[in-house]
Amino acid sequence: MVALPKEALHAGRIPDNVFTRDDVRRDTELRCDVVIVGSGAGGATAAAELAEGGLDVIVLEEGRYYGTRDFTADASAMIRALYRGGGATAALGSPPIMFQEGIAVGGSTVINGGMSWRTPEDILDRWVREDGLTNHGAKDMEFYFDRVERRIHVREQDPESIGRDNALLKEGADKKGWLIFSNLRNQVHCPGSNNCAFGCPTGAKQSALVSYIPRALHFGARVYSDIRVSKISFDGKRATGVLGRVVDEDGRRGAKVTVRASIVVAACGAIHTPALLHRSGVRSPSGRLGRDLSMHPNVKVVAIFDEQVRGYEGVHQAYQVREFHEQGLVFAAVNMPPSIIGGVGMPHYGAELGELMDDYNRMVIAGMLCEDTSLGRLRMVGGHPVATYQLNDYDAQKLVKGTKLLCELLFEAGAQKILLPFSGPGDLHSADDIKTIDPQQIDKRTMEVLTVHMMGTARMGSDPNRAVTDQNGAVYDADRLFICDAGLFPTPIGVNPMETIQALATRNAHHILIDQERYLS
Ligand SMILES: Cc1cc2nc3c(=O)[nH]c(=O)nc-3n(C[C@H](O)[C@H](O)[C@H](O)COP(=O)(O)OP(=O)(O)OC[C@H]3O[C@@H](n4cnc5c(N)ncnc54)[C@H](O)[C@@H]3O)c2cc1C
Ligand code: SF4
Repeated sequence: MVALPKEALHAGRIPDNVFTRDDVRRDTELRCDVVIVGSGAGGATAAAELAEGGLDVIVLEEGRYYGTRDFTADASAMIRALYRGGGATAALGSPPIMFQEGIAVGGSTVINGGMSWRTPEDILDRWVREDGLTNHGAKDMEFYFDRVERRIHVREQDPESIGRDNALLKEGADKKGWLIFSNLRNQVHCPGSNNCAFGCPTGAKQSALVSYIPRALHFGARVYSDIRVSKISFDGKRATGVLGRVVDEDGRRGAKVTVRASIVVAACGAIHTPALLHRSGVRSPSGRLGRDLSMHPNVKVVAIFDEQVRGYEGVHQAYQVREFHEQGLVFAAVNMPPSIIGGVGMPHYGAELGELMDDYNRMVIAGMLCEDTSLGRLRMVGGHPVATYQLNDYDAQKLVKGTKLLCELLFEAGAQKILLPFSGPGDLHSADDIKTIDPQQIDKRTMEVLTVHMMGTARMGSDPNRAVTDQNGAVYDADRLFICDAGLFPTPIGVNPMETIQALATRNAHHILIDQERYLS
C-alpha cells in the first residue's frame, strides 16, 4: 500500500497570515509593497528582512504548506510531496544529471541536509576581482553571514547525535591524516534522526519553514501557498506585480491571483527564476539569463563493512573531509534509505539486488561535492525550463579521482567491498583494486551523477554586458525587479550554497530597505 503524507492542514494548525488554496477560491487581487515569488532559502530570508524593515510583504509559493508534524520516515511519500516533479528531474546531457528541488513553503530548505557554510573567502575575492562585486569582499559579507547564522542557529552537532557511518568516515580520514571538519548545520539539539532530506520530523533543523517564515509572519508578511506565478507584470520597464493561479489539489489551474506591488522579488531558485523572467518578456542585455548553470555534480559510493553500521541512526553528514577542498572536492557520509540508493552502482532488480540489500545495515554511503568547470543552460519549452548540461572530461575525471580518494579512505576505515557509481572496474575489494582505475578509461556516459546545488543562471556582476543583475540583485534593463536566489552566483562556490544564498538575500533586502523611498515612490 502506498502511504500518503498525513493531512497537514487541520484547523488551527496553520499560522495566521498563511493562506492556502482553500482560502483563495475566487479570482483575487492583492496589494503590497513587495511581492516575493518563492519561499525557499532566498525568498523566505528576503521576506523576513523586508517585513522586519517595515515593508508590507506578500510571498507566493507554488508548493503546499506542511508543518513539522507532517514529516515522516516514509521517504517515497515525502519525495512525492516535497520534491518538484517527485524528484525525477534531470539535466539533459551525457550523462544526464539528476537534480532535485523542493516545492513547499520553505522551498528546498525543507528537504536539505542543513549544512551551513559561509562562502569561501577565495570565492568572494574572485567575485570582487572578476565580477566587480566590490561590496562582496569577506569583510563586507561578514555582517550578513553573522546575521544569517544567528537566525538559523548554525552550530556543530551534539556529539551523541553522530552515528557510526560518520564515525567511520572520520576514522578513515584520521588514519589517512586528512583534514576533516565537524559539519556546521542549522539545527537546535538535532537528535540525529537522519530524515533531513524528507522533512525534519522534530523541527530541530532550522529550515526556512521554522526560522525565516515564522519571522516574516511575525513582522506582518502574508504567505500564500499553492500559487504558481506565471508572469511578472510591467509598466514599460517597471515591474508592477505578478500574475498567478491557484494550483488545485489535482495540479490543475484554479482561481487567478493578481498582486500589485511596488517591488517584485523573484526567488524561484536557479532553474525557475530564469523561466519566470523569460515568460514575462525579460531579456537580459548580456544574454546570460538562463545560462552559466553550475551544478556541483556529485557521485556516491556504497561501502560495505563487516560490522553493523546502521547508517540511518545518527545525523546526516556530521563531517566534511576537506583535505582536497582546494582541488574542488569535499567528501561526506550521506546515508540514504533503501528505496533511494538503487542508483549507486546497484543492480536494479533480481536476486543480486536482494542479496545486496541484505547488507543494508552494514553500508556506509558516501559522496562528494565537486566544484565544476562545466556550464549548462536552460532552454524554455512552452514556458517551462529544460536544463542541459554537458559534463566535460576534466570534471568527469575529477569525479573519478575523487571517487578513488574516497575509496582509499573507506578501505582505511575497514570497508570490505565498495560499489562504484560508474561501469568498468566492477566492485572493489581492497585498496589495491583502486589502483586499477584509470580516470581516462572511465566512460562518463555510465556515471550516476546527481546534484542538489544548481546555481548561476542569473549571475550578479557590475558589467551589464556579462551579468543579469547588479551587485544588489537588481535586474539590468528592468526597474524594481530583484532576484534573491541561487541563480545570483557568478561562479560555483565549492561548498553547500544555502548560507551564501541567505546572506545574499539579506544583503539585497537591506539594499531595498535603504533605498525604499526611491522604490516605493
Ligand atoms: C535534497 C537537498 C539537500 C540539500 N542539502 C543542502 C545542504 O545541506 N546545505 C546547503 O547549503 N544546501 C543544500 N541544498 C541546496 C539548498 O537547499 C538550495 O541551494 C537552496 O535552498 C536554494 O535556495 P533558492 O532560494 O534558490 O531556491 P529554493 O530553496 O529551491 O526555493 C525556491 C522556491 O520557489 C518556488 N517556486 C518556483 N517557481 C515558482 C513559481 N512560478 N511560483 C511560485 N513559486 C515558485 C519553489 O516551489 C520553491 O519553494 C540541498 C538541496 C536539496 C534539494
Ligand atoms: S537528523 Fe536532525 S535535522 Fe535531520 S531530520 Fe533528524 S532531527 Fe531533523
